[in-house]
Amino acid sequence: MFAALTEHQVETQTLARSIAERLRETVVAADRAGRPAEGVAAELASAGLLGLCLPRRYGGLGADYLALGLACEELEAVDATLRVVLSVHLALHALGIFQWGTESQRERWLPALARGERLGMFGLTDAGAGSDPANLDSTAQKVADGYVLNGLKRWISLAGQADQILWIARTDATAPANEGLSAFILDTRTHGVSTGPIEGKVGLRAMHTGWVRCQDVHVPGTDRLGDEGEGFKIAMACLDNGRYTVGAGAAGTIRAALRLSKAYAQQRETFGRPLATRQLIQQKVAHMARDYELTRLLYLQAGWLKNRGQRNTRETSLLKWQATDTAFAAADSALQILGAEGYSDAQPIERIWRNARVGAIYEGTNEIHQLIQAGYALGDRRDALLRCELPAYDAQAWS
Ligand SMILES: Cc1cc2nc3c(=O)[nH]c(=O)nc-3n(C[C@H](O)[C@H](O)[C@H](O)COP(=O)(O)OP(=O)(O)OC[C@H]3O[C@@H](n4cnc5c(N)ncnc54)[C@H](O)[C@@H]3O)c2cc1C
Repeated sequence: MFAALTEHQVETQTLARSIAERLRETVVAADRAGRPAEGVAAELASAGLLGLCLPRRYGGLGADYLALGLACEELEAVDATLRVVLSVHLALHALGIFQWGTESQRERWLPALARGERLGMFGLTDAGAGSDPANLDSTAQKVADGYVLNGLKRWISLAGQADQILWIARTDATAPANEGLSAFILDTRTHGVSTGPIEGKVGLRAMHTGWVRCQDVHVPGTDRLGDEGEGFKIAMACLDNGRYTVGAGAAGTIRAALRLSKAYAQQRETFGRPLATRQLIQQKVAHMARDYELTRLLYLQAGWLKNRGQRNTRETSLLKWQATDTAFAAADSALQILGAEGYSDAQPIERIWRNARVGAIYEGTNEIHQLIQAGYALGDRRDALLRCELPAYDAQAWS
């Protein structure tokens, strides 16, 4: 598992780093202006990153899942919104279709997603159900030629920008909560779909976040993803992928915090000596260095499991929890090291700190991840036997 990165993985890392640097000014300016940055998805698409780990036969780059983690770290080292676009579009949406779609659904939807001609989003969170999505109240009523969707999804990344959404809704009110949901691929131009923005976010200001409403929206039966009743399982499997990218991205935040801390602590003198010589400062830097290495090890492990087609729910949940908690701690320590300088948007740490705060909230709050980990530790995970692994990476078949 700890063998050197392959040539392809290093190439992906370098590519993502250069794209992120190219977009730095754009996202920083957009964050400051409090409006979504323009051209990010197009730039990611032009490098092939929006279809990074989809097989070439579906228009992707044919890279493995570890390359996806490495790209996420590079994107987030510049700005978390760059990574979130990739997480939502590729990990939560396109990989869901790759994993659960029929061959004709894959052929119909994936090439345009892989090339970035269409953007995808993920609609699990209902107005009334975030941490407990099994009890969401969006509905999908079966009719002769498909389903009629009604409901309101809130806090949906890319709402107002994306062209399609994986929409999770209740098809059976009588089944146990998590067995009564189904998943749909829904074009946002369909009659009855409306979207709007959520204003005033703490962070991630350089990207769209909003709500999506369905009012008597008709979807054909052929756009249901997976079987009826599999919606909860599909959503959780998509989250295994999303959480992986969130965790890997957090390594980028820690790296950026460490870099800024080091530069400042080495040049700023107090009481006649550089800050870097003070043990209380060294302790903060040591924590960042430790947490960067641990996060990286955890995401390499999760990427390795994904490449082998092995279940990784426990590992990706642990990664997401550990990585996002320590990324925010690192951003906070870096801001503290910079003192008053850090408390202003003249320094990037202010933006990084605001962006890092959401890590403990989305893709399962970190309280929920503690419950998941306790469940595994105590041998009480009912979903542990569900089959929901991604297709294993196959270098020959994907290229
Ligand atoms: C910027 C952003 C982007 C997002 N993007 C998406 C997206 O693209 N798609 C999508 O579907 N969703 C998205 N979300 C929604 C996100 O997944 C939810 O906000 C999250 O699941 C938490 O749900 P909630 O906000 O309703 O909090 P609640 O479920 O109401 O929880 C409130 C608090 O109570 C705690 N809590 C809840 N239950 C327990 C318990 N049993 N024990 C202890 N503590 C508990 C929670 O941890 C939290 O701290 C996004 C959210 C944000 C902020």
